[in-house]
Amino acid sequence: MAVLEGLEFGKSDFVLLDEVNIEQFMENLKLRFEKARIYTFIGEGVVSVNPYKQMDIYGKEEINAYRGRELYENPPHLYAVADAAYKAMKRRAKDTCIVVSGESGAGKTEASKYIMQYIAAITNPSQRAEVESVKNVLLKSNCVLEAFGNAKTNRNDNSSRFGKYMDINFNFNGDPTGGHINNYLLEKTSNNDRYSHNAVLSALNVIGFSEEEIHSIYRILGTILILGNLQFETDRESVLVVGMGDVSHIAELTSTEPDNVTKSLLYRTVATGGGEVIEKGHSEKEACFGRDAFTKALYERLFGWIVGRINAVIEVKDYNPVLHGKNTVIGVLDIYGFEIFDNNSFEQFCINYCNEKLQQLFIQLILCQEQDEYRREGIIWQHIDYFNNQIIVDLVEQPHKGIISVLDEACLSVGKVTDTVCLESMDVKLGQHPHYTSRKLTPSDKTMEFHRDFRIRHYAGDVTYSVEGFLDKNKDPLFQDFKRLMFNSSNPVMKEMWPDGQLSITEVTKRPLTAATLFKNSIVALVEKLSCKEPYYVRCIKPNDIKSPALFDDARCQHQVAYLGLLENVRVRRAGFACRQAYTRFLQRYKMTCENTWPNHLMGTDREAVEAIVTQHGFQDDVAYGHTMLFVRTPKSLFTLEQERAALV
Ligand code: ADP
Ligand code: MG
Repeated sequence: MAVLEGLEFGKSDFVLLDEVNIEQFMENLKLRFEKARIYTFIGEGVVSVNPYKQMDIYGKEEINAYRGRELYENPPHLYAVADAAYKAMKRRAKDTCIVVSGESGAGKTEASKYIMQYIAAITNPSQRAEVESVKNVLLKSNCVLEAFGNAKTNRNDNSSRFGKYMDINFNFNGDPTGGHINNYLLEKTSNNDRYSHNAVLSALNVIGFSEEEIHSIYRILGTILILGNLQFETDRESVLVVGMGDVSHIAELTSTEPDNVTKSLLYRTVATGGGEVIEKGHSEKEACFGRDAFTKALYERLFGWIVGRINAVIEVKDYNPVLHGKNTVIGVLDIYGFEIFDNNSFEQFCINYCNEKLQQLFIQLILCQEQDEYRREGIIWQHIDYFNNQIIVDLVEQPHKGIISVLDEACLSVGKVTDTVCLESMDVKLGQHPHYTSRKLTPSDKTMEFHRDFRIRHYAGDVTYSVEGFLDKNKDPLFQDFKRLMFNSSNPVMKEMWPDGQLSITEVTKRPLTAATLFKNSIVALVEKLSCKEPYYVRCIKPNDIKSPALFDDARCQHQVAYLGLLENVRVRRAGFACRQAYTRFLQRYKMTCENTWPNHLMGTDREAVEAIVTQHGFQDDVAYGHTMLFVRTPKSLFTLEQERAALV
């Protein structure tokens, strides 16, 4: 609860709103943005609005101001949240995590960068060389991953990351000793970010990539570019590659045989029922499909390999818990928030499912945290009223009857199952579910196709998904022939990226995991990682779509506030005791507002002195007294106190 700034800047914590409704929330957010206050607390988390201009608030002075302080002692800032996570980790040996979410362009990556820089700045005061080098590699790896995570691959089709999770490990001194990175990729169409070639090259060098590895990386990127322009033509029933020069260029870059490149582009090997292996020529459409899948896979494997290499470098080595004490962790998660477009497809479905999981985790962790604290402090537990979204998580992921399972069944079944048929089986299984409905849009114009979609009532609002393309996107589209081509590359770096290319066609598993199931597994693993950590939240908002520092687009912002579930956040925060402060801190801050405690109290304990202040201000019914701290139910009480304090100091 930072209430240091004057009221002309609005309320510095949304918990302090008179009423939690969208109007008040938006009014406060807008006022603060217009006054260049881009950060606002929600309890221990912060909401950030992308300023689209350089702010002079990330310097040494700010770092020193936030270092080791309590949240409410300074205006809202990323540093306050980073420091809270760091303090909890260092003082209480807790693993913590900072979840940064928001839509593309909302400022997540910048925020993660500032958080990392803050942590780097406040650690290793004695400048030990080995710690400095760990910090340097951690910061540089961010640069490499950003560059590759945003690289354009071909035409409109680029694989881009929608999430990144980085663990930073600390020793008993609170100094970084290493880390680990996980990436969450989904095929997406967006983001034309540029990156500086030289910066990436120098970062790759610092991290320890060899010349050969760097060459291989650029060769693969080159291959991806050529594939992006490669065309096919049909000449008297047979499909050909247009311009054979490209084929030899690809062969040269990937260290493979031109004949094999042509073959994998135009044919696929299939095993017949009798175990016979035959080569089947592609139609032009199949060839295009195969080419695009290959391009995407090249990129994803390259990216996965780079992450693996970085992880090998930053992994904590030789850590002995007996000698070195507990190894603690701060995780930083940079991840897309709820997504809703005019037309929502498989990608939005996955991202929104991920956000339901994170919301479920948020509820569990926050409530758990509250319960633990109440128990420690000897406060009677109060029931907290909130919407539990587990029912939506189940709708998506339940075995045998969730949406993912219906999708998988449709993808794995033999015979032709269309998106529409798949939707019908979802209707059969889920038609009665309170968070599921489906629709059939009858075309008003005869030339239009039928559109079928389903709608999920997400915790943050309704989203309608068009089923078109769901099945194709859920299948593993990559022909084995490409995997074999790359496994046979004479370039060892590339070969290493395609170990599954050595399987013969008869060995290839008939039922590969689908995209939705792979996605679900990675999100379940992520949630597992986060669930043992104490969470801190940074919610990023993009104020407009034209990168303007002056425009607060009300509709766009309100949309994001809804889809980030911010009102829910405030409600959960306020449901129990909205504020709490240790008695000593409370006294220090408010003793001047009561004649019995100023300048010093003569009562037996600090708690009694706090009681005197509370009673004098008449909010004794709004508080509970813990062993070491005061719990205040409605923020208004504390706010009144703050105002009085402000008038006196
Ligand atoms: P995201 O990762 O959410 O897609 P970014 O962090 O890359 O978004 O931010 C997009 C752009 O917005 C940045 O390149 C930068 O120009 C601007 N921006 C974001 N956060 C800030 C900030 N705190 N201060 C100044 N500019 C910012
Ligand atoms: Mg980003």
